[in-house]
Amino acid sequence: MRIRHHLTFGFYLLISGFAWAQMILFWVHEATGFNPEWGILQYCLTILKEQTAIHQVVLVGLNILIAYSVLKLVGFAIQQIKLGSHWRKHVNSRYNHVKTTQLRQQFNEIGIKMTVIDHEGIIAVTYGFFRPRIVLSSKVIDYFSDREIAAIVWHENFHCRNFDPLRSYFLQIMKTSLPFLPILEKLSHYIQVWMELLADQYAIQKLNNAKDLACVLLKCTQQVQVVPVGSVGFADAAINYRLQQLIDPKQRIKVPVMNSIPTMNSILMLTLLTGVIVSGCS
Ligand SMILES: [Zn+2]
Repeated sequence: MRIRHHLTFGFYLLISGFAWAQMILFWVHEATGFNPEWGILQYCLTILKEQTAIHQVVLVGLNILIAYSVLKLVGFAIQQIKLGSHWRKHVNSRYNHVKTTQLRQQFNEIGIKMTVIDHEGIIAVTYGFFRPRIVLSSKVIDYFSDREIAAIVWHENFHCRNFDPLRSYFLQIMKTSLPFLPILEKLSHYIQVWMELLADQYAIQKLNNAKDLACVLLKCTQQVQVVPVGSVGFADAAINYRLQQLIDPKQRIKVPVMNSIPTMNSILMLTLLTGVIVSGCS
C-alpha cells in the first residue's frame, strides 16, 4: 500500500503541476507573446479565429479562471502563514519545560523533535514543513498511559519522517486553488487517509500490538482539537478507516477515490480540451 500511496501522491503532483504550468504559460503568452508548442491553453485560443465571439469569450473565461486560481492560492497561503505564526506563539507561550524534558528522555530516539505545551484539551500534532516537530498537550501526558503515549508518539514520528505536514499543505493548497479539477479533492482525501493508516501501521509495528493505539483512538473520537498550519493531527477524518484497520487488520481497506461526479467532471474537461485540439488539427 505504501507504493500505491506514493504513486497516488506523484499522480497528484503531476496533475496539479501540469494545470499550473499551463496557466502560467498562458499568462506568459498573453503578456509577452511567447508561444511554446506545448502550451495547451493558448493553442486552444489560437485555433479559434481571433475575431470570433467565441475566441473573446474563451479568452475572458480563461483569464477569470486563472485570476481566481491565483487569488485562491495567495489567499490560502496568507491565511496559513497567519495561522502558523499564531500557532508558534501559542506553543512558545505554553511551553512546559519539565514535561518536555521527561518526554524527550523517555523517547530518546526521537529527542528534540518533541514539545509539551500546557493545554487543557487533547492535542497531538506534528507541525512544521522542513523540520517537523511533535507537539503534545499536558492533558495527553496526564490522561493517557505510558504505552498509549508511546503509540501517539510513534504515530506522529512517522508523520515527521515522511514530511507529512508539508505534503498535507501541498494537497490543501492545490485542491483549493484548482477547484475546477474535482478529482484533486478525491485524490487528496485518499492520500490523507493513507498517511494516517501508514502512521498507525508504523506505531503498531514499533509497539508490537494494536491495543494501545485502539484505546487512544477511541478516547480521541470524542475530542475537539486545535489543528494548526502545516500539521497533521492525531484524530481526524480518517478515523473510521483507522479503527477498521485496528479491528480487522487482515481486511483490505478500500478508500474511494473515483467518485463518479468528480471523475465525470474531470473527464468532461479533458474531453472538451482534446476535442478543441483535435478539431483544430484537422
Ligand atoms: Zn496522524
